[in-house]
Amino acid sequence: MKQTEPIVVKLAETKLDEDGAKKLAEHYAAQEWLNRARQLQPNDSEFLIELAGRSCYRSFGVGLNPNITKVRDNPKDYLTNVLEKGDGSILEHATVTFAFLNVSRIFTHEIVRHRAGTAMSQESLRFVRPREISLWLPPDLASTSREVVEVVGEIEKQYHYLENHFDWDKMNFEQKKRVTSALRRILPDGIATNLIWTANHRTIRWVIEMRTHPSAEVEIRKVFGKVAEICIKDYPLLYGDFTGAKLSDGTSQYTPKFSKV
Ligand SMILES: Cc1cc2nc3c(=O)[nH]c(=O)nc-3n(C[C@H](O)[C@H](O)[C@H](O)COP(=O)(O)OP(=O)(O)OC[C@H]3O[C@@H](n4cnc5c(N)ncnc54)[C@H](O)[C@@H]3O)c2cc1C
Repeated sequence: MKQTEPIVVKLAETKLDEDGAKKLAEHYAAQEWLNRARQLQPNDSEFLIELAGRSCYRSFGVGLNPNITKVRDNPKDYLTNVLEKGDGSILEHATVTFAFLNVSRIFTHEIVRHRAGTAMSQESLRFVRPREISLWLPPDLASTSREVVEVVGEIEKQYHYLENHFDWDKMNFEQKKRVTSALRRILPDGIATNLIWTANHRTIRWVIEMRTHPSAEVEIRKVFGKVAEICIKDYPLLYGDFTGAKLSDGTSQYTPKFSKV
């Protein structure tokens, strides 16, 4: 058995197509706004969200929509107002992709409950036959870690005992897949796995709030604490209303000023 730590890697994020933005600005006669606004806002995700929001009211400047007599010029004021009003649907235009590595199947079972605005690809225990059991030890088991290692080591031994009842070299891939899938039933929920998770910013804000709450499970809180740190740093206008508070187990709760936009 190998002890592991959950790891969060940011893999990808939304990128603005500058030519497309120019064409859109031409369509709205908003070239002046585009030139000025892009200088103020180099962050692609935040800029795309602002662009989508402004296109709803043609609020790229005064005069484009006769009903508008003033506009918020500053991206911070604009996006803060969006969060305050709860106009969160425009946050769905930009996404982030994370790799959650060495997380348990307890974590993955919980994260799949968040359906709206997400995409997931999980390492398959039908196709991948584990050589060993990797596992993260939650703080509540720290005082009994030796015993946990022993128990998991025994499961690993018994897994290989059952595995050795099959002649893998004589099996085709389909047969291997079926037996690997059958055998996984004796593996513990805590076995480390890997998940690629993409979500839009409206969803990420909600999942951070829900899953860093003290009543959430410690592993998902630990992972989403890291997600919160990344998002607050990389998208300051979309996550600037979150505040972090350390909890006694070393994880942090992140609470937004504007909940569930
Ligand atoms: C601390 C904690 C304890 C939990 N305990 C349990 C438990 O014991 N048992 C259990 O089964 N689950 C449990 N859950 C999971 C929980 O019930 C939710 O399924 C999970 O948090 C997903 O959140 P969500 O419903 O907001 O869905 P998300 O998919 O994150 O959706 C976000 C929002 O979109 C809207 N939405 C999404 N889908 C629909 C829809 N089909 N129809 C209408 N509106 C929709 C809702 O407003 C929803 O809040 C727990 C969650 C937490 C955080």
